[in-house]
Amino acid sequence: MNLKEKTTFMIVGLSGAMIIMLIFVSLISFREFSIATARDHVRSVAEVIRVSLTESMINQTIDRRDQFLRRLAEIEALSAVRVIRGPEVIRQHGPGLDREQTMDDIDRQVLESGEPDFSMTDNANQLTFRGTIPFIASEKGTPNCLSCHQTSPGKVLGVVTIYLSMETLRTKALMTIVSMLFIVVIFSLFLAYSFRRQIAPVVATAEEVQKVVARATIGDFSGKIAYHGQDEMGLISRDFNRLMQHLQINLGTISSDISKLIRYTIKDDSNLVTVTTEMVETLLEVAQFKQAVEEDNSTSEVYLRISRLLMGKFGLAYFSIYEVHYDKNTMKAVIVDGEPNRPCRWCSSRVLFHADSCRAYRTGSIVDSYSNPFICGKFEHGEATINLGHLCLPVFHSGHVGAVIQLVTQRSEGPVYQFLLPFILTFLRESAPTVEAKRLLDALRDSALKDPLTGLNNRRFLNEYEKTLVATTRRRNNALSVLMMDLDHFKKVNDTYGHDVGDAVLKAFATTLLGQVRTSDIVIRYGGEEFMVILQENLEYTGPQLAEKIRMAVEKLSINYAGGVLRKTVSIGVAGFPADGEDLWDVIKAADLALYAAKKRGRNCWVRYDASLVEKTPE
Ligand code: GH3
Ligand code: MG
Ligand code: MG
Repeated sequence: MNLKEKTTFMIVGLSGAMIIMLIFVSLISFREFSIATARDHVRSVAEVIRVSLTESMINQTIDRRDQFLRRLAEIEALSAVRVIRGPEVIRQHGPGLDREQTMDDIDRQVLESGEPDFSMTDNANQLTFRGTIPFIASEKGTPNCLSCHQTSPGKVLGVVTIYLSMETLRTKALMTIVSMLFIVVIFSLFLAYSFRRQIAPVVATAEEVQKVVARATIGDFSGKIAYHGQDEMGLISRDFNRLMQHLQINLGTISSDISKLIRYTIKDDSNLVTVTTEMVETLLEVAQFKQAVEEDNSTSEVYLRISRLLMGKFGLAYFSIYEVHYDKNTMKAVIVDGEPNRPCRWCSSRVLFHADSCRAYRTGSIVDSYSNPFICGKFEHGEATINLGHLCLPVFHSGHVGAVIQLVTQRSEGPVYQFLLPFILTFLRESAPTVEAKRLLDALRDSALKDPLTGLNNRRFLNEYEKTLVATTRRRNNALSVLMMDLDHFKKVNDTYGHDVGDAVLKAFATTLLGQVRTSDIVIRYGGEEFMVILQENLEYTGPQLAEKIRMAVEKLSINYAGGVLRKTVSIGVAGFPADGEDLWDVIKAADLALYAAKKRGRNCWVRYDASLVEKTPE
């Protein structure tokens, strides 16, 4: 029910109640008034009759009273009049006329009691007031009752019964009530009309506010209230319009600024409030994300954070994070479907070795297979690829593509991710400088821990890594083998062929070593031409087996140099952790002793450390 209907309802209700009350009060008042008036009337008529009869008696014309009584009954307002003789009078003067004896129960009762009786009857729609008044003998006045009647004062001489027609009075009362009602109804209608007129601006403004607010809730603040009156409603309308304009301008500015920040194009039909809220929330999350990324220790932690973001916030199950090594034109799948260091799953493995075969890397632009199916031939995953689509996003580090984030979803979800793209890109863009800085730091750290000639880890690496390695080995209840190696008669190479050939031999040896171990084994250039392998033992082979494998491989190694082919051998000392020492440095020392023993044994062989070697070793 709106305001207008409520007002009308209220006025009609109040008017109705007022009419009912008026009718009720009027009816009661009229009844009381009519009865009081009729009673006075009856008393007056009775007094006139009494006086007339007394006069007739004094004037000796009482015998002609019949005529008087009949004429009385002809008076219009009186329906009927009768005078009845009381017993005292009958006893003294006889029964009198016939009409003077006709009586009913009320007459009889009044004759006996001397108390007047009044009543109202409504017979056959005829409203009649009846009054029966006793004539009481009194000694007051001259002449008085006792002058003619032989009776004592206070005795009832007779009664007069008068019937008054109340019809005229009733009709007049009804007419008065009807007129009053008519006035009330007219007044109420007028009241309702003027009230509605007065509240019309309020109602109209309220309806317009409702419409404008409804539009505002869906982000459209362009609505205005048309009412321009000079009253309070006019003021409210003006202020309201100003507020909406303010919101429209400011919210528009805020959202266009934020949309520029996150590079999101706001569609004309989008809800400005929702979009702005989403964008502000994204900005906040991006700021928090950026801070977390800055506090991360390494690039791999950052990649994991990006991976969790893609899974958690953006609901992606399938995606790849490729780290690009542009100097080598290679890419590494650092995270695939949320797991680190998994083989490349959603692209041909060619992209790993020829980064420029990755379209996103090569073009530096977003590759969107939802808008352009089959855009990239390197996206492959068997039959499933038909229903899948991908968005590949290049991430720039110092002006070139440093990473590629590949999102893979069902084709049907494409539009959702196209919509989410600006938000995802904002996170990636904000984290990119930190990733880049961390990659540089990692590279710097790597170079400090790497031997530039062979590319193997150096002794500094061992210093840094030793604690972690020992802790992991103890926790896993595992064992390590340390292989200490030294090329035989290496000095001769330098002396005979020169330092460069010596370097070439060292490089060839390093490559051969790497060829013999697994990726989980650690290969270190320990000194000049001393090398070390730390083997994380398992059932595949043990330290001595690996030593023999390496020895044989080196023995077979042919090193080409300008003047011909060179062959070298290696001596190896083998020791185990924790078998041969409480810490890794003790075990390395033990391996060194074993190496010394191998040299003594004639070179091109390996020796397993045992305690007896300690005595044989010169100080
Ligand atoms: P042995 O069989 O007893 O090991 O004899 P050796 O000649 O190999 O003797 P030693 O291990 O003491 O020789 C070490 C030589 O390695 C000394 C040095 O000239 C050479 N060397 C060390 N570092 C380098 C390097 O980086 N490049 C080259 N070309 N030679 C190096
Ligand atoms: Mg040496
Ligand atoms: Mg040597």
